[in-house]
This record gives sequence, C-alpha cells and structure tokens, in this order.
Amino acid sequence: MLDDVLHRLRSSRLGRIDRGRVTQVRSAQSLFSGNYSGAATVGHEFSGTRLGLGVMHDLEGELVSLRGETWRVPVCGTPEVVAVDETIAFGIAASGGIPHSFTVDAGVGIEGIGDALDGYLSATFVDHEEVVCAIELTGTFTDVVLRTVGHPDHVGEPLAEVIENETRFAFDVWHGTLVGFRYPDATSGSTIPGLHLHAISDDRRSGGHVRNATTARVTASLWIDDVHIERDDAGAAEGREAIDFISLEGPLQADPVP
Ligand SMILES: [Zn+2]
Repeated sequence: MLDDVLHRLRSSRLGRIDRGRVTQVRSAQSLFSGNYSGAATVGHEFSGTRLGLGVMHDLEGELVSLRGETWRVPVCGTPEVVAVDETIAFGIAASGGIPHSFTVDAGVGIEGIGDALDGYLSATFVDHEEVVCAIELTGTFTDVVLRTVGHPDHVGEPLAEVIENETRFAFDVWHGTLVGFRYPDATSGSTIPGLHLHAISDDRRSGGHVRNATTARVTASLWIDDVHIERDDAGAAEGREAIDFISLEGPLQADPVP
C-alpha cells in the first residue's frame, strides 16, 4: 500500500498543488554587504504565516516568528514582540503547504538535524537542491548557543564584521522551538545556503539565531515549499567577494563559552 505521505509528495512533485510558499525579503548578498534599511513591514512579511526568521531594520535584533507572532531579540537577550508596522532588513516566512513529520534522533547537533531532514527528502524522492523546506522542531535541547546582533558601528558596515561581535547566549538545557529553512546548498548570493534556524523558548525569555543545539527529545516537521524573493536588490555579482556563510551563520566549531 502506498504510503499516504509519499503519495501526497508525488502528487505535489507532479502538480505542485500541495507546495507551500516561502517569501524572502531582500537578497542575502545585499544584507551581508551592509544594507539594513527597512525592506518591508513586519506585518507584510509575517502576518498570517506559519513560521519565519529575519533581522530588524538597522540590525535591531534577530527576528523569529511563530504562527504570525514575531519577536526581535535585542542584545540584552529577552525577546520583545514587534508591531506589524515596524520594518525589517531581511526576512523569510513560510505559509501554506502540508506538514510532514520526520524523526530526529536524540543527541544530534545542527548537522545531524540537516542530515535527518535530507534523509527524509531523499527517501521520498525529493532533491534538496530543487526545493526549499520550512522546518519546525519543538522540544528539549542541550548545549544551545543562540546569538543576536545589534546596531552596526557605522553605516554600511558589512554583516560579517557585525557578526564578529555577535552577542551569544548559552544554555545547558533549553526548552523551545527552532524554526527555519533548508535552502539548496548552491546559491548565487540571493539566498543563504543550507540549514538556517532561529529559536524562541517556551517561556519566551530567550531566542535568536541558532549557532549550536543538540537534540534531547524533539518533534520535527517540514513543509516543502516554492520560494519567492522580493526586493532582490543584490545587483551584479561581479566583483563581490563570496560570503563565508558557514563560518558566519553555521555551527560554532570551538567551545563558545568563554
Ligand atoms: Zn539567522
């Protein structure tokens, strides 16, 4: 008997009728080159969506959005709900589509979460280079490191320099939800490749961009989406240096706690 999830996926691969939609505001290249102006309002990007992430205009904190409620994480570390008329420098939000549950074992880090997701996709004949997935993981995590950013030191300061001074928050045990996206590994600069997760704790007292997390007991869902990019103002790629997304956004290699 044909697995019903597989059947739905095959249907969606043929007709794409079950695909959700991911909307990204601003290209990654433009953000990383130092353009932190307001590209859209919080309401435009996140109202009515399932989950999302981003960063406030002028880098007033990393953003995380869940079921249409959106928080910024200031450098003090305590999330604040943002109003719909405030503006964002960058955002990605997902809506529609059908959820698929997938299993993530206990004791795996960010790379292991990505492997579990890719394993689910390949088992259902979906190539991770041809889709964008929205992801939600809820439960208990250990060795969590979240980060946020604050105002740039000067107008146009590249994001790589800002991230060198990122503010980190470390938790031995953490309860909450990670939301984000698995974009194709290949990028022209418009998108941030690979797995990108932001976090909000169950008690809404911590959050940010996820640098490290190890699963303890989690439930995981993904949605297979099509992507639409607004304000893709990257311009010509010539002459621009490639962005080292892995060192800036990916898992920390060394012990992050001083
Ligand atoms: Zn992020």
